[in-house]
Amino acid sequence: MVQKRKLKLKSKYIEILKVLGTIFGIVLAVFFIYLYNVHQLENLGYSKEASKNILFKFKKSYVMDIGENKTLNAAFESLDYDENNLDSYAKIKYQNHKHLIKNINVLIKKKYSNNNISMILAHGSDIDVSEFAKRDKIRYLEEFFSIDYAKLKNYDRYVAYSDETGEDEEVVVIAVNLDMDKENYKDPVVISKFDEKVLVNKHRQLSKDYVPKELVKISNNYTSEKNMKASKVAVDAFISMYKAAEKEGYGIIINSAYRSYKDQEDICNQYKNLYGDSYVERYVAKAGFSEHQTGYAFDIGSTKKNVFAESGEYGWMKDNAYKYGFIQRFPKGYEEMTGFRAEPWHYRYVGKKIAKYMHDNKMTYEEYYARFLDK
Ligand code: ZN
Repeated sequence: MVQKRKLKLKSKYIEILKVLGTIFGIVLAVFFIYLYNVHQLENLGYSKEASKNILFKFKKSYVMDIGENKTLNAAFESLDYDENNLDSYAKIKYQNHKHLIKNINVLIKKKYSNNNISMILAHGSDIDVSEFAKRDKIRYLEEFFSIDYAKLKNYDRYVAYSDETGEDEEVVVIAVNLDMDKENYKDPVVISKFDEKVLVNKHRQLSKDYVPKELVKISNNYTSEKNMKASKVAVDAFISMYKAAEKEGYGIIINSAYRSYKDQEDICNQYKNLYGDSYVERYVAKAGFSEHQTGYAFDIGSTKKNVFAESGEYGWMKDNAYKYGFIQRFPKGYEEMTGFRAEPWHYRYVGKKIAKYMHDNKMTYEEYYARFLDK
């Protein structure tokens, strides 16, 4: 009797153990399947966090069909994930923005297309896009933002400048990006990076104490007055150019090179006394706003003719200066863009690569800067 009861108990335990074992087995299997799926998604390029959420939201096959997609990854990592926008996430081009998904959701709600949203995201920082998302849908999105270097934060100024000038969109974007829509000398950018690519104009200022690093004395052979100085790289380039011109029978000479902040201030005062304020305002750069302070600019003359623009040397410079890294900085017909009247004599060293590009594509340094250097 006792033995039978013991047996009965034993078989009951075995039953329980069997059930527990099965449950444990199932849990283990599910766990391994889960790990395997996470691993598969991770291999596809999704983060661990995104991969888990993809599984919990039952979107694995959707994601596997699409493959690696950074915006989708960000969406599945984000608390702002909205299932209704899933297809859009997959199509919108990723940007590394903190509020990427939140902003995409808002822009979708404002009825921007996926392409338009990609365009918006590509033209501003996270803050710019967050600000932009607050405003009503804009009218001229593609007109301005199909231009690579257009900036989201400048949109209203583009529209205003375009209305005011009637210029085409590219000119408008370049001009506004460089603050040409503002009054001259008002709230200028104070320059902090000084190399041969520096852009100085009536909206971009050098500080009072800025002196170029590699300032060297120019041999008197090349200058109309003694003791001129300029940046070494520009002086070396000028000497090569001088020799090439000489070989072809042309005589170029430097009439002005590096000028300190103080020198420029003196020049302004001199002209002011002679011709008055409005002359200075129009024709002379104020101290801190002259390229001569960079050490990369030269006023060039002809040894054969007084008026440079009428000399053979000017013709030679037009065809050859770029080969030595120089550009005519204030060409005729571009006064609106450069902010200066045409100055046939004023040349600026920017290096051979940029000078050649500008020569081949006929543009001002403002335009080149806005297109390629203004990051
Ligand atoms: Zn000059």
